[in-house]
Amino acid sequence: MSLLTVGTVAFDAIETPFGKTDRIVGGAATYISLAASYFTKKTAIISVVGDDFPEESLGMLRSHGVDTGGIKVVQGGKTFFWSGRYRNDMNSRDTLATELNVLADFAPVVAEEQKEADFLMLGNLTPAIQRSVIEQMRRRPKLIVMDTMNFWMDIALDELKETLKLVDVLTINDEEARQLSGEFSIVKAAQKILTMGPKYLVIKKGEHGALLFHGTSVFFAPALPLEEVFDPTGAGDSFAGGFIGYMASTRDISFENMKRAIIFGSAMASFCVEKFGTERLLHLTQEEIDNRVQDFIDLVQFDISLE
Ligand code: AMP
Repeated sequence: MSLLTVGTVAFDAIETPFGKTDRIVGGAATYISLAASYFTKKTAIISVVGDDFPEESLGMLRSHGVDTGGIKVVQGGKTFFWSGRYRNDMNSRDTLATELNVLADFAPVVAEEQKEADFLMLGNLTPAIQRSVIEQMRRRPKLIVMDTMNFWMDIALDELKETLKLVDVLTINDEEARQLSGEFSIVKAAQKILTMGPKYLVIKKGEHGALLFHGTSVFFAPALPLEEVFDPTGAGDSFAGGFIGYMASTRDISFENMKRAIIFGSAMASFCVEKFGTERLLHLTQEEIDNRVQDFIDLVQFDISLE
């Protein structure tokens, strides 16, 4: 086992200015694992669903090499449900509903063979569940990456701060960074968050790219200017999946390699937003990924020689 992911496997109902969907399969762990599957095949998910969750969708994950044995199916239970509506700029969204359902009393169990995973991705989920997974590992993974969101800052801030102390990399968006730190300036927010536990902080800025902070160093990855942005749902998770999938495939946890991982993460996010839900992540080719990464290189490459 190389990459262990904990996170939601969910039903989502999404509204964008271009259309609306009714209960499609989503969830943080779904997007993360699909994106990561293009980099590493030895991955597994720990999550929970109800018996309303389609077996074909678990099969879809398995066909991407994801071990779904750790996704507990609660008989008579209902799967986590989230619904959101995007504003016209597609960069901001309103959550219309979050129904925890089977997630409310989920106690994750890390299987023996997963306890030595080298890369641990804590997808967006109850911070106490994220922590319980770290505590069950037999030895500390080489890298622990954690994602979270404002919902957990609103209802479980103390637990969230406890989990933060145990991770290496935190990924959040700019508004969440402001909420968590109480600072308006993104740079001040980053400095403060880096004292809370993580040694690396990724601040995602949607169509304006992402920043990686470490000590006094900063790295910036743009987002690709795309003609079609259909549905941003899962972009953050696809980013995280590409990021940790690349890290797990190279097994190099240096800051220099993290910069490359951020570009691969951004490439996976750029695919994700081109279609509704997980659709665009289902059948990518290596050539498409390579071409997309080349687009990123071309976008920011310039020659200046300073005497
Ligand atoms: P993203 O657009 O990358 O932030 O993630 C969207 C996914 O996160 C959706 O598929 C939702 O099912 C899932 N999600 C939404 N709210 C939560 C929450 N409070 N906890 C965990 N997952 C969530």
